[in-house]
Amino acid sequence: MKASLFPDPEPADLFNNAGPVDLLAATEATDPPTHTVAGGAAAHHQSGSLRTQTVQATVASNNMPAKAAAQHLVLARKWRPRRFAAMVGQEHVVRALRHGLKTGRIHHAYLLTGTRGVGKTTIARILAKALNCESTAREDPDPCGQCAHCVQIDQGRFIDYIELDAASHRGVEDMVGLLENAVYAPTAGRWKVYVIDEVHMLSHHAFNAMLKTLEEPPGHVVFVLATTDPQKVPVTVLSRCLQLGLRNLAVEVIVEYLQMVLQEEKIRYELPALTLIARAAAGSMRDALSLLDQAISHGGGDVRQQEVRAMLGAIDRDQVAAIIDALLAGNVGQLKRIADQVRELGIDPGGVLQALAMLVQDIALVGAKAIEAEDPRLHGWSAAGHPTQWQVYWQILLHGKRDLALAPDEHAGLLMTLLRLHAFRPAGPESVAATRPASPAAASPAAASPAAASKVSREPSAGTGQAGRAPGAEDFVLDCDWSALAQRVACSGFTRQFLEQSELLAIEGLHIRVRVPIRPLAEAATLNKVRDLLSAHFGLRLRISAEVGAVSQETASAKQEIKRELDHQEALEGLQRDPFVRVMIDELGAEIVPESVKPRQVEDRA
Ligand SMILES: [Zn+2]
Repeated sequence: MKASLFPDPEPADLFNNAGPVDLLAATEATDPPTHTVAGGAAAHHQSGSLRTQTVQATVASNNMPAKAAAQHLVLARKWRPRRFAAMVGQEHVVRALRHGLKTGRIHHAYLLTGTRGVGKTTIARILAKALNCESTAREDPDPCGQCAHCVQIDQGRFIDYIELDAASHRGVEDMVGLLENAVYAPTAGRWKVYVIDEVHMLSHHAFNAMLKTLEEPPGHVVFVLATTDPQKVPVTVLSRCLQLGLRNLAVEVIVEYLQMVLQEEKIRYELPALTLIARAAAGSMRDALSLLDQAISHGGGDVRQQEVRAMLGAIDRDQVAAIIDALLAGNVGQLKRIADQVRELGIDPGGVLQALAMLVQDIALVGAKAIEAEDPRLHGWSAAGHPTQWQVYWQILLHGKRDLALAPDEHAGLLMTLLRLHAFRPAGPESVAATRPASPAAASPAAASPAAASKVSREPSAGTGQAGRAPGAEDFVLDCDWSALAQRVACSGFTRQFLEQSELLAIEGLHIRVRVPIRPLAEAATLNKVRDLLSAHFGLRLRISAEVGAVSQETASAKQEIKRELDHQEALEGLQRDPFVRVMIDELGAEIVPESVKPRQVEDRA
């Protein structure tokens, strides 16, 4: 994951010594006093601070990476929340803790769970301050951040605040050493707060040692255990803790926070760049801030989309759009060219599939009228494809991304996934053009296969047609089944829906009468579009009218649904009969998820 976040070797190399790795490490739980924030340092050395800052500013404007990175260390840490009020995205946990503090109901052991960088140790630290703050009033449980205790806890040198990183101190001696003083009353504060980060890493014996204290905790002790993996924490420990689950932060929440930070820092930015960063951070605010730091370096002080994209190895939205265009056009050559381009630009193939999946999701949502389209192209794509198509694409993309690691190389994995998408393309306009007679109007009715010919009897149309027309000369003859028409005519959106869901009632001269199941399909705008479409297709001036009512099972969409269901059933049964699958089910307890089974062929029907 980290590798894909920093794949760009050139600029990243400049930062190898003080770059992303250090930033992440420095924002970890244990902040030794030497890492004090610039603001704090300025306050301490009053005489020297001004000059230091001037020097840093000069360095930053000269864009010298090594020194700039040192300054960024400051920036990333600066925005770590120091009060409950400043926490974002974890309102439920904050509310519970504040309530407990307000009402004086302090639990003796809290277990904070959640993935990395969502704020577990930050909350632990705020809680420790709130418990020991010298000026906290009961109505406002937030720590003041100003008193000696708050400052000392922030600096990691408060005597009654003890942090242990279980990842590096997992033995029983560490735990015994940590807890040997637990029985004694706090030296300076009201509470002794023990924070154990990555608690699941503790050894069995260490857990046992801790359990003794957890079972009969001295009245002045509060444990705050933090873990990314609560499954590995023994039940005996879990049952003695108040568990609080921290959430992964939503992209919007992260973007909003980054915006606030940048505005406060007076750094110019492009909003799409922040979205890219937030997505890459995958729910972790700490990662997002670290990436923001890098982005500022890459952009020479500004945060611009182009640099962020290059930095993350992310693909351009236009390139993703080009893939969709190529898929809808059935242009395999173009797909290959884009895949090659992705390789040349050093873009992460997994990121391409992910970006593609997100675009497909947007298209599906726009098609379902669930969201407003920000990008006008979304409507076009949505209309050009079929709702089911986007579902299939989604599945293929997720599986393709999952299987990238199994591919001989990731580029091959990307290309094959794109080809798979292409293979699942429903029969499109070109195939219509290929099968369609050169001049349908002139084609004699006898030429059409009798089996495929419409069942609807053609009535003599003398007197019903337009004046001046030779009777019968231009009578409309449907040379295929009405329900097959949607496959043959290049149509999309409402017109496609209309053709797929309608049932033919009669053809009277040039007048086609149909029945549709829902009113929107019978509206004049839709009818006019269908009329124009069919008129153009058959080279006749047709008229079309629709009544609303229950349609039979003979519509294209009903037939497709039945076919799909049958195919799915067949595929499922085939899979269940497969000897290999049987072994998986019987021996390994595997399960078939019926929804995930897809029939192999899609385009063999006319
Ligand atoms: Zn305080």
